[in-house]
Amino acid sequence: MVKRWWTPSSKSPARLGEWFELSDEGPLNNILVASGVLGPLDPIGLSPTLLSEDIEAFTGACIACERWDPKGVAGPYDLEVNPQTLKGSPIDRRVLRYKTMERPIGSPALVAKRSLLEAMGPDVPDRWLIGRVRVQGGGEIDELCTIIDPEPLWDRLRTAFTPGWFSVVRYEVCGECGRFTRRPGGSAWYLHAQEVAGEKASAKLASLLVPLSAVERAELRDRKRWPRLGVCGIPVRDAIVDPYGSPMPVWWDEFDAHQRSCGVSPPFPKIPIEPDEPVGSWLEAQIEERGYEACVLLDGEDLAERCVVYARLWACWDAKVARRIEGLNDAKLADAIRVKLRDRSRKDWLPGS
Ligand SMILES: [Zn+2]
Repeated sequence: MVKRWWTPSSKSPARLGEWFELSDEGPLNNILVASGVLGPLDPIGLSPTLLSEDIEAFTGACIACERWDPKGVAGPYDLEVNPQTLKGSPIDRRVLRYKTMERPIGSPALVAKRSLLEAMGPDVPDRWLIGRVRVQGGGEIDELCTIIDPEPLWDRLRTAFTPGWFSVVRYEVCGECGRFTRRPGGSAWYLHAQEVAGEKASAKLASLLVPLSAVERAELRDRKRWPRLGVCGIPVRDAIVDPYGSPMPVWWDEFDAHQRSCGVSPPFPKIPIEPDEPVGSWLEAQIEERGYEACVLLDGEDLAERCVVYARLWACWDAKVARRIEGLNDAKLADAIRVKLRDRSRKDWLPGS
């Protein structure tokens, strides 16, 4: 009944580390804060808002999941930062020397050292929009620049479908825009060789994805030259070893359409909402079409209800799971999962938790 349309990961050995994720591993001091942000800044700074005037012009911007379509960005984004850092002290140029990249609080773009881009040379794609970092009240931090990548490769990061898949990958959707908020998990990431062939570096909000040539050319693993730069290898595989289509879906509708073309009907990823929380516009339309109960997780605390959705998804891709839950309606399946959850040794019923 369930037919696999992808390659089992055991049949496609990964060629380790042909691509790399670069991130700044330096201490979180001297954090820059974007000014000109209309929304309130999160004091911890972990969820910078995208309510910036500049971002409103970005196409497809969603303030709920903080994603937008960078293809619509017309030109470089000049960032203006506060003269004080998050801690309230003046920006320290000595510390900036060691900063390779950063996403300032409230900034919609990655900020990186210009010298990093210069060192990567031809591995920096022409499509990148490179802007300046100014200081409110005058001045510019000319060591740094902003990067917006109109065609980021990040959406092509995949997670190999192995028995651990459900513990690292989330099956969630933004209720406001309908974007698939799939989060690939740590070491299970991989890139499909065909999808990255001939590609150059790619930027997202807090890090860069670069090919081996950039690592070698710029000596990115040289800790003396780049003292706080984290370089993490990402396996590249010849085959697609997960149940997604190619390219990786961005919108849930895309994902759903691909699955249906493969003959399976993925469950609607029920969205947990608080009673007084506004329902996002995408979710509202879904509720109209499918009914409230089918779309919303009424009790966000009930892990078993959440697991029902995952179990149904799992059954789409795994004949063994499909057989186990065959004939069970949602209520009975939730009951069965509740029993398993009480028995802590049965971690296999905890997908996505
Ligand atoms: Zn969204």
